[in-house]
Amino acid sequence: MKTVLNYLKNVKDTAKYMLQGLEVTFDHMRRRPVTIQYPYEKLIPSERYRGRIHYEFDKCIACEVCVRVCPINLPVVDWVMNKQTKKKELRNYSIDFGACIFCGNCVEYCPTNCLSMTEEYELSTFDRHSLNYDNVALGRLPTSVTSDPSVRAMRELAYLPKGKMDPHEVPDNEPRVGAR
Ligand code: SF4
Ligand code: SF4
Repeated sequence: MKTVLNYLKNVKDTAKYMLQGLEVTFDHMRRRPVTIQYPYEKLIPSERYRGRIHYEFDKCIACEVCVRVCPINLPVVDWVMNKQTKKKELRNYSIDFGACIFCGNCVEYCPTNCLSMTEEYELSTFDRHSLNYDNVALGRLPTSVTSDPSVRAMRELAYLPKGKMDPHEVPDNEPRVGAR
């Protein structure tokens, strides 16, 4: 009799622990999707996102402050001294995004504000050397998720309705906030 009771107790404990483990699985099944369908859907980067740097050649005075404040002295300012005018003449400017850590120091300290952080984050390439942007590539206007008609722009936490932070609070029939 004792053996049978022990056996039944073991069966009960096993079922209990299995259900406890499955609770996590069922909990996730009730959640709303947290993924977006990239590249058809894209998250809108936050306001102060530090993406690809934009550079305005005409505003640059070749002071090289950006080089000095960069932790790895990355920007290359190519200039020559014009002996007649006794002024610097800017030839080229480049930043290698393969090495840049997007700290934003150069943008912060540039005295003429010719550098700015953009929301462009899609920099992947087959050849890392093509990440070395010259002044023409740096001067290109950035792509924007919100102005691209081919993608559906989603705000961060797009799967949750406005004001909700916990997926468990949201009923299943409530639409995703970014969905049309
Ligand atoms: S700090 Fe600004 S103005 Fe000076 S060299 Fe760099 S980009 Fe040009
Ligand atoms: S963002 Fe930072 S690492 Fe990149 S070029 Fe500017 S200062 Fe250098």
